[in-house]
Amino acid sequence: MEDLHATVTGRLRRIDQRYTTGRRALVEVLAEAGRPVTIGEIVAGGRVPAQSTAYRNLAVLEQAGVVRRVQGHDEFSRYELAEDLTGHHHHMVCVTCGAVEDFTMPSGVERNLARVIEAVSAGSGFKPEGHRLDLLGTCAECV
Ligand SMILES: [Zn+2]
Ligand SMILES: [Zn+2]
Repeated sequence: MEDLHATVTGRLRRIDQRYTTGRRALVEVLAEAGRPVTIGEIVAGGRVPAQSTAYRNLAVLEQAGVVRRVQGHDEFSRYELAEDLTGHHHHMVCVTCGAVEDFTMPSGVERNLARVIEAVSAGSGFKPEGHRLDLLGTCAECV
């Protein structure tokens, strides 16, 4: 966690922002959640104060490249730490309740996907830098 805090401090400094107690609490909550969480879930934990402050802090952390907003399947934005901080992964999105869970694919599948992406991009002038792949379906709670 201390390495993470050092990295976040550096990224905030690049955009002239300080790593305040509130931002630190947010990063810890996101690091411990292990899946994308809504503002409601973040605040419910009790470690992060007012929702409005949390929104502002998340926007700053997003701008600093620390936090990523995740597209779910309901009206709630979800947030997680940027992939370069936590590792490459994908999302399972429940189309009934909106819950989002992380999952990783076997490295062989990722390599095959990288080859497909190279082939698709070749000759198009598009330079691929990454990918997102969300599974849409029904979670275990909603089945
Ligand atoms: Zn569900
Ligand atoms: Zn992938």
